[in-house]
Amino acid sequence: MIAVATPERTCVGCRRRRGQDELVRLVAARGRVVPARPGAPGRSAYLCPEEACLEAAEKKRAFARAFRGPVTLDPAVREVFTQPGDARSSHASPPDGAPATAKVQCSCAALHDDVPAAAVDERR
Ligand SMILES: [Zn+2]
Repeated sequence: MIAVATPERTCVGCRRRRGQDELVRLVAARGRVVPARPGAPGRSAYLCPEEACLEAAEKKRAFARAFRGPVTLDPAVREVFTQPGDARSSHASPPDGAPATAKVQCSCAALHDDVPAAAVDERR
């Protein structure tokens, strides 16, 4: 047996399992998905620190499923993913190669066009 220091979590974007400390934890607060503070309680979703996983999760409505209801992705979440490393710097420099403009979509709006809940049964 290998001793695992941190529990594994599944990225809701790419569905890969990774150590919890490698993933970005998100929680829903009042219908908004926000980055979780360390130790924050409650239901959470995990994503690789990669914008591709964030976009994949949005496309799949993974947040709505993870949080059991329509949620809006807070812009703060996108900042975390588009500014790897020190995301809290005061000036927002454009991430290399990331078309981050005009991509903020309300995932709750996306829920209304089609809800393929039955098609995405992910139980194993
Ligand atoms: Zn991922």
